[in-house]
Amino acid sequence: MLRRKLTSAFLLSAFLLPTAALAQTNNVGTTTPATTATTAAKLKIYTAPQDVIDKIKEEGMGKNSQVMQTLSYLTDVIGGRLTNSPNMKRANEWTRDTMTKWGMQNAKLVAWGPFGRGWSLKSFSAQVVAPQTLPVIAFPKAWSTSTKGAVTADVVLFDVKTEADFEKYRGTLRKKIVLVSGDPKPVKADFDGYGTRRTDEDLLKMANAVPQAQPQQQQLNEEQQRRQREAFLFNLKRWNFLLQEKAAVIVDSSSKGTGGTLFVQGATAVQDIPADMTNFSFRNLAQAYKKESEKKIIPQMTVTIEDYNRLVRMIQQGVTPRMTVDIQTQYHDEDLMGYNTIAEIPGTDPQLKDEVVMLGGHLDSWHSSGGATDNAAGSAVAMEAARIILASGLKPRRTIRVALWSGEEQGLNGSREYVKQVFGEMKGGPQFGPPDPNAPKPELVKGADYDKLSAYYNLDNGTGKIRGIYMQNNPLVRPIFEAWLAPFGDLGAKTVTMLNTGGTDHLSFDRIGLPGFQFIQDEVEYSTRTHHSNQDNFDRIQAEDMKQASTVMAAFVYQTAMMDEKLPRKPMP
Ligand SMILES: [Zn+2]
Repeated sequence: MLRRKLTSAFLLSAFLLPTAALAQTNNVGTTTPATTATTAAKLKIYTAPQDVIDKIKEEGMGKNSQVMQTLSYLTDVIGGRLTNSPNMKRANEWTRDTMTKWGMQNAKLVAWGPFGRGWSLKSFSAQVVAPQTLPVIAFPKAWSTSTKGAVTADVVLFDVKTEADFEKYRGTLRKKIVLVSGDPKPVKADFDGYGTRRTDEDLLKMANAVPQAQPQQQQLNEEQQRRQREAFLFNLKRWNFLLQEKAAVIVDSSSKGTGGTLFVQGATAVQDIPADMTNFSFRNLAQAYKKESEKKIIPQMTVTIEDYNRLVRMIQQGVTPRMTVDIQTQYHDEDLMGYNTIAEIPGTDPQLKDEVVMLGGHLDSWHSSGGATDNAAGSAVAMEAARIILASGLKPRRTIRVALWSGEEQGLNGSREYVKQVFGEMKGGPQFGPPDPNAPKPELVKGADYDKLSAYYNLDNGTGKIRGIYMQNNPLVRPIFEAWLAPFGDLGAKTVTMLNTGGTDHLSFDRIGLPGFQFIQDEVEYSTRTHHSNQDNFDRIQAEDMKQASTVMAAFVYQTAMMDEKLPRKPMP
């Protein structure tokens, strides 16, 4: 899951009405008419017969399950899968070959891009060497450059709050190891524990939520925009100063986490200061994975909050600690294209087999761990859901297509580019970052298969089991999803919510008006411990949750492939 908050996730449309008149949909193996408040149109809902549901449950929850085996290979053997890294390529190839071995067809890597260069860590060590030896828990940032061999240097605190502060540091940072996160962060005792599940109360609240119509984007007022531009500009100046002053290594404190957990993402490439901020586009920010950024990247790493805090407190006590840091990294420029893994179960109905039901999640991860909950979990579950359908001997009418995306962590790139190639794009549509007042009005340009997709189902909220599904502001799917969740209430999945959720690949479909959905999942330790951290390992995966998610996803995908009609689409805003 992408970490940035997306303003587009809060887009809500005015057509939403309270739902009513839901059809009774528990008939087995039949289609049942239903109506919705918005259209009153007849909608035939296919629900699989009980013996099919039983078979899916048996295959997914029983001893045949492969989901943990898949997860172990992805996280333990392949490991972190930074976009365009050698590990990412291995993961692409291994998932393609594994799905082929299971009997899926047309398994292949589909290129998108160019994205940029790959990166891998060749060796790394960091410790305090004076006034005493102290190993630290640290990890280099992705796409960091290498230090010139092992660097032993004084550790200095670079704490600038205003423009005037720069002068205090001029000439003092050269070849130093520089702390840039300011004062120590408070560390609280953990009285509540890391793991949580959604309570019945939470779920009821979600089920009853009626989204309020909101303006198109939460626009910042002029004062807020000015302050945001100023903070952005000041940060650019800080980084330009560090580069000009030739700091040897930049060290920041983990944004959160304690007890050995640190959260680490990509390196900062120093951005030239724009002459005129009013015309500056956030879309043109320097990216560390672009070759031309290399000379603007200072070697940089993140340390745990406790290690960072201690270094700062030593400095505040009048001590100058020294550290030895050795970061050796390698860029990979052989192939700048990104790849998604795609594989299919061909449809069997001559009228419908050209139509497609998609499922997936992103296969790429950050680099400091095996990327287990983000998002080997969703990838393994999507693969497993397809395996369950095949192994149960089911013959879907529509083609089922698994997609394992890359570049999600850099902005949903793999799914967005695939959707553009196959289904269409919103020209000039909302992008990431602050609203751009100069952006042209969005316009939908349909691709060749725009009318052939029934739905896309995504899983990317960690290891937690499925508790239901977000309708993504499409009330027309409520009776369908309620019918399909009915056999899984005993497994904890029963909530349908009008709310939407953001930050992941279903948005690439949703953005162009195609039905793209993310399931509601239990949180477990996602935000507190694993999401983009060095602790996102196989051991944090909950096996029973993963089996349940695979089973529910298999049933949703299969039934979508069996409907007479494609899933109803919401009107374009
Ligand atoms: Zn993520």
